[in-house]
Amino acid sequence: MLRMRDRERKLISKIDEALGRIDDGSYGRCEDCGGDIGVERLRARPVTTLCIACKSQQEAEERRRKLG
Ligand SMILES: [Zn+2]
Repeated sequence: MLRMRDRERKLISKIDEALGRIDDGSYGRCEDCGGDIGVERLRARPVTTLCIACKSQQEAEERRRKLG
């Protein structure tokens, strides 16, 4: 229960950040490369801050870190 609340809090803070980005006009732009994240991806993950290319790069780096 506590863990679930923690997850909810994290999600809510992500939604807050997303709303802030809508306000300042940076919503839908990749934090890393500055490119468009894409409507399809935003529809699937509305709180994402990375485009698919940067996200998969980040995931590949995380995998490398875990292995190394
Ligand atoms: Zn990107």
